[in-house]
Amino acid sequence: MQKNNVILPPKTIGIIGGGQLGRMMAIAARYMGYKIAVLDPTPDCPTAQVADEQITTAYDDMDGIKKLAEISDVITYEFENVDLDAAAYIENLGKLPQGAFALEVTQNREKEKTVMQDAGLPVPYFNIVTNSKECEQALANFTFPTVIKTCSGGYDGKGQLKLEMDDDIPAACAFAEKNGTCIIEQWVPFDREISVVFTRTQSGEIEFFPIAENDHKDHILYQTTVPANISEAVQAKALDAAKILAEKMNIVGTFAIEMFVNGENIFLNEMAPRPHNSGHYTIEACNISQFGQHIRAISGLDLTPVSLLKSAAMVNILGEDVEPTLTIMPELTNGFVHLYGKDGVKPKRKMGHVTFIGSTVNEISKMVTAYEEAKQ
Ligand code: AMP
Repeated sequence: MQKNNVILPPKTIGIIGGGQLGRMMAIAARYMGYKIAVLDPTPDCPTAQVADEQITTAYDDMDGIKKLAEISDVITYEFENVDLDAAAYIENLGKLPQGAFALEVTQNREKEKTVMQDAGLPVPYFNIVTNSKECEQALANFTFPTVIKTCSGGYDGKGQLKLEMDDDIPAACAFAEKNGTCIIEQWVPFDREISVVFTRTQSGEIEFFPIAENDHKDHILYQTTVPANISEAVQAKALDAAKILAEKMNIVGTFAIEMFVNGENIFLNEMAPRPHNSGHYTIEACNISQFGQHIRAISGLDLTPVSLLKSAAMVNILGEDVEPTLTIMPELTNGFVHLYGKDGVKPKRKMGHVTFIGSTVNEISKMVTAYEEAKQ
């Protein structure tokens, strides 16, 4: 087993990607006394606003990556679509404790589902297709509803199409023809969606955050509630599955696995090799956040044992919610508003989130309802 490579403050942590996840990682690292360098093409991106230095260039610009590696003692990333050559280069320098493998797997839905299946874990039935003809043939193996997704590049519901009936087949075939390699999945009639967020060190120590329950609207995460309303058996299955994958993939850092729950069964959906939107609640509701724990893992520090201090609900603030939230913010005394400093408010774009904490999920659900009514 690898030993932890300890990096102490005020050394520099480099982050590839300058969005909200990088920003919240940077804030956690700054509390601890680390310096931050970020690489992102957008000047004054959300992470740059809280960083010491920004390298303003494309994510796959090797000169920029080399510069980031020179000024950083350790490097992490805030999204999975990191250029794999860049990741391999940094890994060879010994500055990417998370490694390139988790990126390679999570960049591609075919590899992701195959790794899960090979580990003996339950996933929705799927077929891979590369064009319209294969799509039409493959759809004969499915019952409606089903969903077709691009194997790479999709996020927040982009790059996927749900099929409800025969009439939707031509659109699915056109989708496959246009997008190249796609995955067709059986739609799981789930009771709820959950995510397991955990952190693993370089030496294999693992700490789980409480399992979160997620509600999506238009395929975008809308609300996360903790604790999730699941049985102990489902909880045990979800944690076991996450542990198996973490070890098999030799994960380092904070990692998330989204799952569907159907009765007492789970089906694994997606993995993210980074802190996750459904783990934002940990900032106020746990003794350590998913970001703080991530910084500990990549810096070679032992993990803080996690405890849930309060029940929580996190609601995303999308572009259309910014103005109404700002209007009620002066009176919003029971919700913690986080705005990410993004330039350009667009509908459906994640601009921030608000977290409510309380003694019970019922109590918090009333807070969320009051927030939503006030926002109208
Ligand atoms: P994904 O980008 O794969 O996480 O999909 C976004 C959301 O679409 C999920 O969180 C689910 O709400 C829904 N979804 C995607 N695939 C399936 C599936 N096979 N069965 C049921 N719901 C799905």
